[in-house]
Amino acid sequence: MDESFHVTFRGVRGSIGTPVSLVQMEEKLTKALERAQPEDLKDASTRKSFIDSLPFEIRGCFGGNTPCVQMQVGGENLIFDGGTGIRQVGQDLLKGDFGKGQGKAHIFFSHTHWDHIQGLPFFTPFYIKGNHFTLVSPHDNLKKRLEVQQSPEYFPVPFDAYSATLDIPDVHGKSEISVGDIKVKWQEMCHPGKSFSYRIEYAGKSVVYATDAEYKNLRAEKLQPYVDFFRDADLLIFDSMFTFGDGLERRDWGHSSTFIGVDLAVDANVKEIAFFHHDPRYDDFKLVDIFSQTQKYLKSIAPESNLKMFLSYEDLTVDILQVESPIQDKAENVPYPIKLNGKGQNLSQIPGKILVSKNGLLNQDDFL
Ligand SMILES: [Zn+2]
Ligand SMILES: [Zn+2]
Repeated sequence: MDESFHVTFRGVRGSIGTPVSLVQMEEKLTKALERAQPEDLKDASTRKSFIDSLPFEIRGCFGGNTPCVQMQVGGENLIFDGGTGIRQVGQDLLKGDFGKGQGKAHIFFSHTHWDHIQGLPFFTPFYIKGNHFTLVSPHDNLKKRLEVQQSPEYFPVPFDAYSATLDIPDVHGKSEISVGDIKVKWQEMCHPGKSFSYRIEYAGKSVVYATDAEYKNLRAEKLQPYVDFFRDADLLIFDSMFTFGDGLERRDWGHSSTFIGVDLAVDANVKEIAFFHHDPRYDDFKLVDIFSQTQKYLKSIAPESNLKMFLSYEDLTVDILQVESPIQDKAENVPYPIKLNGKGQNLSQIPGKILVSKNGLLNQDDFL
């Protein structure tokens, strides 16, 4: 049996797709060049080392695709939300069974705001006969909602025209389903039109996907249901779209902040929190700045806490089953846990818990 529990972030931006702008690119290039010494630019190898040594927010980017998180768990394919990030998931799946019309996956929806469904019409495995998908949403009328998005005024291919089989089971009145040996539970969250968080449990480990959620009433008894749902999670993926100040100004917008994420994660004894659904207004430098404020906040409210945290970014994979990690043990919390290095390496060379990108692996120096 395939024992695995990999979580890959494929779209981490909230509300609307947010490509890197020309101004942002220039800022990154300027900052990089300011750091360069003549010896860094000597030849291809020194240039490569120099680029690898740059902070992620200068050398890379957190990503502009809207929410989609892919999980490969015990041989099953689970996908959470169909934001624009799902397009590339589809391209990657085509290389395996899905390209032959033999793929099987579950897609779970937190809700159907545009940023969580807009990638679906571009998910190529839907167009291949023989593939089988189970679409799960505790909201009423998922099918109708997805049909509307693909009515002829808005998209040329109707939702009913896909060649793959799309099952939409009625989960009304339920609060969990099993997929193979995996349990997926859900809980209603506070968001305009409501949203649902999912808790995925497998092999004694758990991941919670909690996006598009506001915690309006911060009294302990009101937060208790969320704390219970997040309890002891190995990874909590948390809507931290706003700064704490934004959250006060934008009450009822349905989003939360890194500070509230830290509060809940500490109370729920979460091991690691991934900040997610980044605000389209905030560039990579701002995200890192918010992260460093959040580090100070964690130190002030829970100096003894072992909570790990990071800013999620596109194509980052977290291996949930590898918990004992010399890398993690020595880690200070860093805004981005790894570096993309652009060249594939053997995953087995990395000890303990690994945080890998699709295209490369971490530079362990970041952690030591
Ligand atoms: Zn959203
Ligand atoms: Zn929403």
